[in-house]
Amino acid sequence: SNWTMFALFGGLLLLGETQPSFAMKFGDNGVVTPGWTFAFALMLLGMPVGALVIMTVANLWSGLQARSRPQVLIFNLSQIALSLSLGGLVLHVFGMHDSITELNAIPISWGAGILLSALTVLIVNGVLTTIVIGLHTGTGLFTTFRTGLALSMTADGALLSLAPVFVIAVDYSFVLVPLLASTSYIVIRSARSSLHRAHEANHDPLTGLLNRRAFDDRLSKTIGMFGSSTAATVLVMDFDGFKEINDSLGHSVGDALLVRFAERLVDLLPGNAAAARLGGDEFVVLLPGPAEPEALRRSLQSLHREMTKPLDVEGFPLSVAVSVGVAVAPTDGSNPEDLMAAADLAMYRSKQSDAGVEFHRTSVHQAGRAGRIDLLADLSRAIEHDELFAHYQPIVRMSTGRVEAVEALVRWRHPRRGLIQPNDFIGLAEQTDLIDALTERMLMRSMYEVLELGLDLGLAVNVSPRSLHQRTFISMVQRSLDATGFAPHRLELEITERALTTETERTVLTIRLLREAGVQIAIDDFGTGYSSFGALRLIRADRLKIDRQFTRDVDVSPDDRLVVRTITDLGHGLGLQVVAEGVETPGVRAALAEIGCDFAQGYEIAAPQTIDSLRVTLGGWPTPSSADRAYA
Ligand code: C2E
Ligand code: CA
Ligand code: CA
Repeated sequence: SNWTMFALFGGLLLLGETQPSFAMKFGDNGVVTPGWTFAFALMLLGMPVGALVIMTVANLWSGLQARSRPQVLIFNLSQIALSLSLGGLVLHVFGMHDSITELNAIPISWGAGILLSALTVLIVNGVLTTIVIGLHTGTGLFTTFRTGLALSMTADGALLSLAPVFVIAVDYSFVLVPLLASTSYIVIRSARSSLHRAHEANHDPLTGLLNRRAFDDRLSKTIGMFGSSTAATVLVMDFDGFKEINDSLGHSVGDALLVRFAERLVDLLPGNAAAARLGGDEFVVLLPGPAEPEALRRSLQSLHREMTKPLDVEGFPLSVAVSVGVAVAPTDGSNPEDLMAAADLAMYRSKQSDAGVEFHRTSVHQAGRAGRIDLLADLSRAIEHDELFAHYQPIVRMSTGRVEAVEALVRWRHPRRGLIQPNDFIGLAEQTDLIDALTERMLMRSMYEVLELGLDLGLAVNVSPRSLHQRTFISMVQRSLDATGFAPHRLELEITERALTTETERTVLTIRLLREAGVQIAIDDFGTGYSSFGALRLIRADRLKIDRQFTRDVDVSPDDRLVVRTITDLGHGLGLQVVAEGVETPGVRAALAEIGCDFAQGYEIAAPQTIDSLRVTLGGWPTPSSADRAYA
């Protein structure tokens, strides 16, 4: 009877709508639930109110279960109400007040009525969903429809057209129910597995975020759509020290960390954002729509803070440092390639400067927009064509005020982009062998130039951690000393403590051999890494350079003063001389002198400058006579 059928279809409807395992996801947007088949079947039994009530109850229940936001729930329920009642109205207009099972034969007009009613349900659903998702993601109606909804509407249509078949078959004989069930099961299974394959093609298997291909696709759809002035923001993120986590805690912990991070990212991002993992520990995010610069900066900074909070990985808290590079369309690039390159570049700068979040600076980009790859190609040419040169920054002894050494800081005079600062390319160079050629150039050039000054000055040159792993590094330094005739004891190599966290043995050996050759060693940026004290135990050095983050407020902050004093005492206790970096004001300088730092370097004393202006600067400055050996 009709009531048995009502019970059957009603039950199936409830099951189809509330069991998440029955739902099928189509593309990015569309979700199809088999509940609609049975809802429509109930309507064909002449029970539109029953269909509406059960559908509403089922969706309310599963919505509450899934903790959907109220807006989403309200939208879903109104969508159901609207589409089912309009569908019911169509049936009514065609004179179908009773169940179609009451008739022996279905008249043509009823066939048309059923078709029209199904179409109504389908179209009302589709149109409403397209509008809502389109507005929400800012991807535009047509794209929204294409990426998933068209597909899911086809599936919805197929499900709806099954409804009359179900009703008539079940009415004919209940014996057909198992047959229908097995057929439906197989259809759903195969649909699901092909959907699964489609999902895999677009998603990262580990984290479930989009993969590179899908992200590129999304990006070009978003900013390629309304010409070149579409506003959007791209973030490129990369973990710092992920390799160490993998090496020390194992790959399964590394993987779990990536998964947790991805989950948190999705939680933190607005619903219209697209997030992807490009591989390894590199993530990208697309935020469509315009953003007011100051608000964007603030929200990204707070995003970064949230992101770097400890994550629960296999039971213990693990935090990662993340460097984020930001590029905004259309300012930093109006096509996907430029935009990604700009964000990439900003990310590298953020890694260099430890800033966390860095925005792309258009100045670096100005002429001919280009990114990492171009810059790398340019850099190898720059080394050959001598576009790299050094600025020198004096280092003074606090007790005498004499300049005893200078630090060579690399600069790049790019033929089109103008002067480029090291933070914009050292990180890049360090990814390749180019860094070795760069260091060699810097060594040679600065030794020649400092020799030409004719003063007994020390020379400090920065060395990238990567070079210290190279077996050929020592012979390269030796070669430069021989070629220039520079006395080894006047040369100091500055090594960041970062260098001592990876491939330690090789690095420690290199440093020992360099010292045996008479070269001095300074530990640079002391206090910024995770292993400052470890670094001191691993190697013997001559000097410690306290990072500017500690010295900056040393005259006003008692805590900073305590830290600087402790580092200084520690250095002295270990027989090291202590250099304070980033001295910008007389107050800081005085505080450092009072604490007992041996040397100071910073804008307050002198800015980094060309060799020619250095010559002028030093002309009016006390420098050591050759009697007392400098920087020793
Ligand atoms: P660093 O070794 O810590 O060098 C000191 C940086 O602080 C320099 O930035 C310098 O210009 C800046 N500075 C100096 N005094 C002050 C001050 O009073 N206040 C502030 N706020 N900053 C000050 P620069 O020249 O942009 O170099 C940045 C970094 O790039 C260097 O940091 C170093 O890690 C790297 N680098 C520079 N030259 C080379 C090089 O030839 N080879 C390698 N491997 N790295 C280099
Ligand atoms: Ca340095
Ligand atoms: Ca430093």
